[in-house]
Amino acid sequence: MGLLTNKVERDEIKPGDHIYTYRVAFTYSHHGIYVGGSKVVHFKPETKLDSSMESSSDLDNSISSLQLSCPTFPDCGFQKPDSGVVLSCLDCFLRNGSLYCFEYGVSPTVFLAKVRGGTCTTAASDLPETVIHRAMHLLQNGFGNYDIFQNNCEDFALYCKTGLLIVDKQGVGRSGQASSVIGAPLAALLSSPLKLLMPSPVGVATVTAGMYCMSRYATDIGVRSDVIKVAVEDLAMNRGWAGHLLEAPEENEAEASNKQIAIRR
Ligand SMILES: [Zn+2]
Repeated sequence: MGLLTNKVERDEIKPGDHIYTYRVAFTYSHHGIYVGGSKVVHFKPETKLDSSMESSSDLDNSISSLQLSCPTFPDCGFQKPDSGVVLSCLDCFLRNGSLYCFEYGVSPTVFLAKVRGGTCTTAASDLPETVIHRAMHLLQNGFGNYDIFQNNCEDFALYCKTGLLIVDKQGVGRSGQASSVIGAPLAALLSSPLKLLMPSPVGVATVTAGMYCMSRYATDIGVRSDVIKVAVEDLAMNRGWAGHLLEAPEENEAEASNKQIAIRR
């Protein structure tokens, strides 16, 4: 696996891997958790996103039409009512796109060297069984409302892999995808962690590519201090879906307890 791409072959992925593919001519990536048996659990918008992000309704329409006519698996496209979490076969997930594997536990140096946001994180992955358990649990119980900035398909996969949630509901989403989509200057302005890094007023014109790297680093869940580890069974409560207040943050166990999954080559 090279520095600039995480492209892998189908026989290289293992159950519990976080995989993704690029859609709409590389303008955005779609992420999911490979759960084995040629099946992927992923999170997609329940309703259509408006305009700018997706060029029209490519995501919804294409997925729906493919799943209706999936020739291979009768259960392909399974999802609970009102849930954006879907079980698809690998073919329908990829839609002839290339397969990529999201890297966990990379060093900050490698993280900053990656050209694209949303291809790796410094956070460590949990064990595959844990990852699959979370994905299958969320398939049955949902993952809340899709939000391109706060709660998208990449956030879903990141949560399944690490169990980490951002405490601050106003902050930038966990994933690098939001910053990729909206571009560096806007991402910098929207990013509350980054504002703390800029004590004096800084004009948009001075926000450089270097700032972009910094903002990605500042929002990576592996280095944020405002993340908590949440059991998947407690997810709805912690995210406020059930109307409960957040419990006191527990110690971040990501580094201590988890064996990092080795990424091939
Ligand atoms: Zn299918």
